[in-house]
Amino acid sequence: MVRDIKKIIQEMTLEEKASLCSGLDFWHTKAVERLGIPKIMVTDGPHGLRKQAEAADHLGFNESVKATCFPSGVTLASSWDRDLLHKVGTALGEECQAENVAVLLGPAANIKRSPLCGRNFEYFSEDPYLSSEMASSHIKGVQSQGVGTSLKHFAVNNQEHRRLSVDAVLDERTLREIYLASFEGAVKVAQPWTVMCAYNKVNGDYCSQNEYLLRTILKDEWGHEGFVMSDWGAVDERAQGLSAGLELEMPSSNGVNDLKIVKAVQEGTLPESILDESVERLLKIIFKAVDSKKENASYDKCTHHELARQVARECMVLLKNEDNILPLKKESQLAIIGAFAKKPRFQGGGSSHINPTQVDSAFLKLVEAAGHTASLSYAEGFSLTSDAIDAGLFEEALKIAALADTAVIFAGLPDHYESEGYDRTHLRIPENQVRLIEEVAKVQKNIVVVLSNGSPIEMPWIDSVKGVLEAYIAGQASGAAIADLLFGDANPCGKLAETFPKKLSDTPCFLNFPGEGDTVAYKEGLFVGYRYYDTKELAPLFPFGHGLSYTTFEYSDIKLDKETMQDHDTLTVNVSLANTGTASGKEVVQLYVRDIASSVIRPIKELRAFEKVSLEPGETKTVSFVLSKRAFAYYNTAIKDWHIESGDFEILAGSSSQDIRLKATVYVESTTPLKKLYTRNSTLGDLMLHPKGKKTAEELLNLMLGDKHNSSESLGTDMAVMMSDFVLRGMINFSGGAFSESMMNDLLAELNADDCN
Ligand code: BGC
Repeated sequence: MVRDIKKIIQEMTLEEKASLCSGLDFWHTKAVERLGIPKIMVTDGPHGLRKQAEAADHLGFNESVKATCFPSGVTLASSWDRDLLHKVGTALGEECQAENVAVLLGPAANIKRSPLCGRNFEYFSEDPYLSSEMASSHIKGVQSQGVGTSLKHFAVNNQEHRRLSVDAVLDERTLREIYLASFEGAVKVAQPWTVMCAYNKVNGDYCSQNEYLLRTILKDEWGHEGFVMSDWGAVDERAQGLSAGLELEMPSSNGVNDLKIVKAVQEGTLPESILDESVERLLKIIFKAVDSKKENASYDKCTHHELARQVARECMVLLKNEDNILPLKKESQLAIIGAFAKKPRFQGGGSSHINPTQVDSAFLKLVEAAGHTASLSYAEGFSLTSDAIDAGLFEEALKIAALADTAVIFAGLPDHYESEGYDRTHLRIPENQVRLIEEVAKVQKNIVVVLSNGSPIEMPWIDSVKGVLEAYIAGQASGAAIADLLFGDANPCGKLAETFPKKLSDTPCFLNFPGEGDTVAYKEGLFVGYRYYDTKELAPLFPFGHGLSYTTFEYSDIKLDKETMQDHDTLTVNVSLANTGTASGKEVVQLYVRDIASSVIRPIKELRAFEKVSLEPGETKTVSFVLSKRAFAYYNTAIKDWHIESGDFEILAGSSSQDIRLKATVYVESTTPLKKLYTRNSTLGDLMLHPKGKKTAEELLNLMLGDKHNSSESLGTDMAVMMSDFVLRGMINFSGGAFSESMMNDLLAELNADDCN
């Protein structure tokens, strides 16, 4: 329906306009009935609908209507499958339509800076490209159903500790290349109807009133067309927030902040034009939601449950499979041990907590799948509410383990170990589970561990077990998906979207997490996740991108469509992938780019493209990628733009960040070389980089190092290396009058006048 939004705004009173800028209650925007502006409902998110019919809260305490609980963010990202995320998004959109929800609060694209962050289970990855790709597909899926999304939490919200007051302090390159890049592609490509600002401050300003983030970057640079809403209770100074680009405060401020907006306009501290622009953005989305509403929408709960099962098995990651212990034989004697086998941990705590339509028990699904040939015994092994060892439960578990062909131990993090609202302080699973695995290993050499956790854990027992399936927290059908994978009815094809470190002290931000008081300094800079481990050559427990299959893949024939290119060109990379095993399966081919020599500090390699490919046994496919400028660039803070330094770049195709199978090199030429400004404090070494400067620098070096050194020899001496750090102005004194102040000024003028310096 066509409406004249500008005219509606003209007809609104100042008070009505201000009123639209905050929620009616916990989950609705306000209506202005006389002008036909309805209220709309927003609701959590991200991986299921948490629509509260009765008492409302933002921490998941009170009941919500039944909805399908899909795998959480970390689990979904481990699929590395854009189409799959789109399918999940579409199903979520259908459920929103059925429940009359206009905007789903998600996806959450914050970077996993530390494995300790309590909300990592909701976030996609430690890598901004993967995260942004997953978020884009999720958003496009939901929005294909005429339902909005709220990409959250913008930005640099990477811990729960003091999340409403902490100031994340980081340098511009790290902000741009890591933390904002995780949102950037998703905003530009998928245009989420709304973006939710984070609780914390970034470099001194609350995200809810951070003009640099909300206006300069999000709206002006990236072109976000929708509106920004606050995280629940994130508003500090409302008028300042509005001016910075925060259109909607959530939840309701009970009129208090509406009055502040009115007052600021009346006093002239907030231009009414800004209020009008904000209302325009709000109305565009509100009416879009109204126009997209499908009457009598419904969805089939069983179909969505089945989808949740299919999705979950595309996400789980086979971490270890010694002696091909998996898949299990249906006719073998299996000891199923661990409370999670019957009481699955399938979702995280807090605002994303879903009231599932049904929940699968892995044990029952294993029994069902094994059929009459099966011999499955079960022992609880440990309590989920206490970390203390229960001798009785241990005894039972050891008894069945000793009698079986294989013991399958369901271990992981109990609910209270990780949640929104607080961070973990260590990476351990409860002591009773660690001891149980160690004790079972004494009576049974065939052990498979199935893990349910939302974030990496330490595995001191890894050498005592043959198989590890990382099931993550995989939604209400996780039990069925685990059974499918364990028995080989489906082939594992997930890959880690994060690094599993050997121990907490190996993690990049170990020394600076969660900060001091209300400041957390991101001193590890760009070196987040594999960017740190790989650059430092520090072996993790399992690297980023790792994940095994029941089949094998062979990489060959990497081909680039050019050997040299300019920074505005694109590069096509082809890789041949063959399924050399006996099962059909899927492999995620990962493409990393390495700047071989750079004058700025860069990680050794960075993920720039990936494709998930499905192959039958014996089949070969050519996998194609297109790389453009951003794949080679870094963010240059001087020119405030992405920049490529001319030089050779390696294209690395691999099965994980540490399993690179193929390499090729391309030369990329910058068409916008940076202009260097020479000053009296430039070094002789700096001068050597310029043809005219080089001549003078060599003369000065000769002068300083005496007759014995001609220019080329002098460059080879240690003295010359030492001298190259001398500053130009020093030559005036040291040259004994041969190089004067005016000669220096002439030289500088000449060098700086040169456009191609
Ligand atoms: C969370 C958001 C959530 C909101 C509403 C906040 O506490 O940080 O992610 O969408 O509550 O429940």
